[in-house]
Amino acid sequence: MPHGVLAEMTAKTAAKSPSSSSAVAPKVSDYYGCNVFGLETMKLLLPKETYRRVQDAIQKGERLDLEAANAVASAMKTWAMQKGATHYCHWFQPLTGTTAEKHDAFIDLTSDGSVLETFTGQMLAQAEPDASSFPSGGLRATFEARGYTAWDPTSPAFILETPGGATLCVPTCFVSYTGHALDTKTPLLRSIEVLNKAALGILEYFKSDAKKVFSTLGAEQEYFLIDNEYFKARPDLLLSGRTLFGAASPKGQQLEDHYFGAIKDRVFTFMTDFEAEAFKLGIPLKTRHNEVAPHQFECAPIFEEANVAVDHNQLVMDVMKRVATRHGLAALLYEKPFAGVNGSGKHNNWSLGTDTGKNLLSPGATPQENLQFLIVLVSIVKAVHDHGLLLRASIASSGNDHRLGANEAPPAIMSVFLGAQLTQVLEDLEKGVTTKALDPEWIPFGIDKIPPVLKDNTDRNRTSPFAFTGNKFEFRAVGAAFNNAVPVATLNTIVAGQLIETKKEIDAELKNGKPFKDAVVAVLRRLYKQSKGVCFEGNNYSAEWVKEAKKRGLPNEKTTPAALKGFALKKSVELFDRLRVLTPEESHSRYHILLEKYAKDIDIEAKLVCEMTTTLFVPAAADYQAQLGSSLSAAKAAGIKTPAQLALLRGVAQKAESALAGAAALEAARAKADALDDVEAKAAAYCENVKPHFEKIRASVDALELLLPSASWPVPKYREMLFLM
Ligand code: ADP
Ligand code: MG
Repeated sequence: MPHGVLAEMTAKTAAKSPSSSSAVAPKVSDYYGCNVFGLETMKLLLPKETYRRVQDAIQKGERLDLEAANAVASAMKTWAMQKGATHYCHWFQPLTGTTAEKHDAFIDLTSDGSVLETFTGQMLAQAEPDASSFPSGGLRATFEARGYTAWDPTSPAFILETPGGATLCVPTCFVSYTGHALDTKTPLLRSIEVLNKAALGILEYFKSDAKKVFSTLGAEQEYFLIDNEYFKARPDLLLSGRTLFGAASPKGQQLEDHYFGAIKDRVFTFMTDFEAEAFKLGIPLKTRHNEVAPHQFECAPIFEEANVAVDHNQLVMDVMKRVATRHGLAALLYEKPFAGVNGSGKHNNWSLGTDTGKNLLSPGATPQENLQFLIVLVSIVKAVHDHGLLLRASIASSGNDHRLGANEAPPAIMSVFLGAQLTQVLEDLEKGVTTKALDPEWIPFGIDKIPPVLKDNTDRNRTSPFAFTGNKFEFRAVGAAFNNAVPVATLNTIVAGQLIETKKEIDAELKNGKPFKDAVVAVLRRLYKQSKGVCFEGNNYSAEWVKEAKKRGLPNEKTTPAALKGFALKKSVELFDRLRVLTPEESHSRYHILLEKYAKDIDIEAKLVCEMTTTLFVPAAADYQAQLGSSLSAAKAAGIKTPAQLALLRGVAQKAESALAGAAALEAARAKADALDDVEAKAAAYCENVKPHFEKIRASVDALELLLPSASWPVPKYREMLFLM
C-alpha cells in the first residue's frame, strides 16, 4: 500500500478468506485438536498396552522404552502422513526466545534405490542438530558442537500446516553433549517437577489423595495488527520490532474508544481464521477483544497445565504471525512498537492444580482447606518478597524496558496485590485476632485464631505486577514477545523453594510439641511478618509507590542490564542449583546470553537510527529545502515578502542538521560500546551511553515529519499505521 496522502484514499477492505464466506462455519468441536497427536488419538491408534505405557510416561514422568517408542512413532507417522505431512521435525526452544525446527523428510533409501517412509522410536526420541549456532553462554565449547533434542511426551506432537505443506512437529528439550540445558523447556520441566514434590509435601499434612500437583497457566496475549505493506515499508519495525521514529498521531488513544470497541471487519476475519488454526492445534482460545491502543488486540486461552500452555503460547505467537501475513496484515508482538500509546504484554494467570481437580489457590469450603490455602498463599508472598529481583530478571528485555513503569504496565518493582479482605485476614492472623465475618461471602473458619477466608475475591487492581485474583495470581509484567517458559519456571522455582522451607518450619514447630493448627499459625504469622513489605494495595503507577517501595527496600531496576543481575545473585544461583532446576553454569550462561541479547538489540536499533536518519529523513529534508529555496527565490524576485516560509526553511534545515549531527555522535558511541569485550560492561555501555542518543535524534526527525509534505515523508506515519486498515 502506498503511504502518504494516497494511502488514505485506498484503505483496504476485508481480505477474502475461507471463514469470511457466508457458509455456516463448521462446529469447533468437530475439528478441535484434529492436528494434535494427543492421548485421544493415541488411544485409538495404539495397542492397549503401549497406550498404557505412554500414559504412565506422561503422568509419572517415566521414560518410555524403545519398543513402546517404536510403536508410538509408527502410529504417529501413519497419522501424520494421512494428514499430508512429508517431513517431521524436533520442535525446540533454544535460548533465543523463539522456537526452532529442523525438518527431515520421512523418506529413506532402500537397497534397490527406491524410497520408503520411515519414522522410528529412536528418531522420535532423540535427534542431534548442530548446536553451534545457538547461544549457549559458554556451556558448549565451540569445538563441541553437538546438541541433542529429546522428546517431551508431556506436550503432544502436532502438525503445522503452512501454505507450503504440512510438518509433524515433536516438542523436545534441547541439551548439550554434557547434559546442560541449552533451552527454556528443560528448566521449565525441572521446575514443574520440583514444585510438584514441594506442594505434595504440604498436602501430606492434609491427608490429600492427590498424587500430583502442577502449575497451571492461562496466558492472555496482547498484540498489534497493521497493514503488512506499512510494516514492510518501515525498516525499524521490520528489523527491530519497534518504530524508532514517528510523530504522534493527532488522535491516539486519548478518546479511549478502542478498548472493547467493535472489531473491524478485516480484523475480525483475521481473528476467526487465526482461531480456527489454533483450534486445530488444540489451543483453547476463548476470548478476543480490542485493547486500549488503536489497532491493539488481545486473545486469551482457557488455562492448561503450564508446560503445554507455554508451548501453546509459543504456537499462538507463531500461528498469529503466519495467519496475519495471509491476510495482508502484520502481527506485532514487540512490547512497545509505538511510542505514546500502550505497549503489549502477556498476563500470566498462574495457579497450582492437583490431579484430583483441586485448585490450591482456591479458598476452600472447610477450615482444613482454608488452612492449606493460607500456607500456599503466604508461601508465595514470601517467595516473591525474597526473590523480587530474580522475578524481575525473568521478564527483562530491551522491549519490556519501554513498558514497565510507563503508566500503562506495572512498574519494575515486584509487589503482590492481595485485595482488601485477604489483606485483613493476614493482618489479623499476624496480630492473632479473629477476623469477623462481616461479609456473607466470607466462609467462617470455625477455629479460633484462624480467620475466615473469603470465597470469591472480586477485588481488582490492574496496576499490580502480581495480583491475586480470587483463585490464581496474575503476573502482569511479562512482555508480549516473551517465551513464557522463563517467567513460569522462575515462579515455579521460587515458590517450590519456599514451600519446602515452610514445611521445614512447620515440622520444627510440630517437633517442639505444638498442635498442628498452632504450628501452622505460628509459621504463617512469622512468614507474613517477614514478607508483608512486598504487599501493596495502592496504585502501582504512582510516584508515591516508587518512593514507598524504596523505603521498604524493594528493588526497582528499570533497565535490563541491571535487572538481569537477578539471575546472577548468589541466592538465585543457589536456589536453582539446590532445587536442580539450573546448575550454576546454566544460571550464569543465561545471564550472559541475555546480556548479550540486550547489547545486540540496542546495537541493531542504533544502526537503524543512523541509517534511517542519513538515508531516508535527511535526504527528504534536503529535497524539501531545495523546493522551498526555489519557491522563496521566485517570491523574492516577484517582490513578495515570505517571512513565515523563510522560517520554515530555517526550521527544516536546523532539524535536519541536528538529526545528522546526532547520528554521527550515536555512531561514535555505538562503535565504542561494540568494541568492549566484557559482556556486562558492554550491555551497560549500550544502555547508558548508546541508547540515550535515540531520543534526541528522534525528536529532530519527528519535528521534521511535521514540517515536510505528507506525501513525501519516506515511511508510513503513525496515523496511517494505527488507523488505516
Ligand atoms: P480476567 O478478569 O483477568 O480476564 P478471567 O477469569 O477471564 O480473568 O481469566 C483470565 C485467564 O485466567 C484465562 O486465560 C483463564 O483461563 C485463566 N485462569 C482461570 N483460572 C485459572 C487457574 N486456576 N490457573 C491458571 N489460569 C487460570
Ligand atoms: Mg486478566
